[in-house]
Order: sequence, then structure tokens, then C-alpha cells
Amino acid sequence: MACCESPKYKLVEELGHAESVDWDLKQCLSCGAYYLQESSEYEGAGVYFTRLTDEQAKNFRHSQGRDRINLLKQWYNEH
Ligand SMILES: [Zn+2]
Repeated sequence: MACCESPKYKLVEELGHAESVDWDLKQCLSCGAYYLQESSEYEGAGVYFTRLTDEQAKNFRHSQGRDRINLLKQWYNEH
């Protein structure tokens, strides 16, 4: 479900840390699709990319502080 063949990502914004995961908002260099990158702090747990809609990406970008942490926790519980 990647947007392009072997997409390359650029960092849009570091969203922070919640639920033992580092969260980064990334964007495909070719087409501009947004992705949420999850990097677990546990060794060997890997890195995951989930494609976001523009709306979801906007919600993350516009969130701040406690609201952003809550968004990330909510996302974590739902995915
Ligand atoms: Zn793409």
C-alpha cells in the first residue's frame, strides 16, 4: 500500500514519543503522500510506516503538547 514504487521519505516533523515509540511524520519525495513512521524503542522491533490521509497528517501537525500525545496514544491503540 505504498504510494510509489520504492518511495523515498523526507521528514516533515518529529511528533515525539509515546507508548515506547518514536513518532515521525514523513512525506514521499515523489508524490507528497504522508506517512506516519513508528520506531519502537525496543531493539529489533523494527520501524513501521503507515500511510496517512492529508486530513490525518494535518491533525497531527496542528496538534500540540498533551493533545498530540493523546492523538498518538489513540492511534497506537487503534492500529
Ligand atoms: Zn509517493
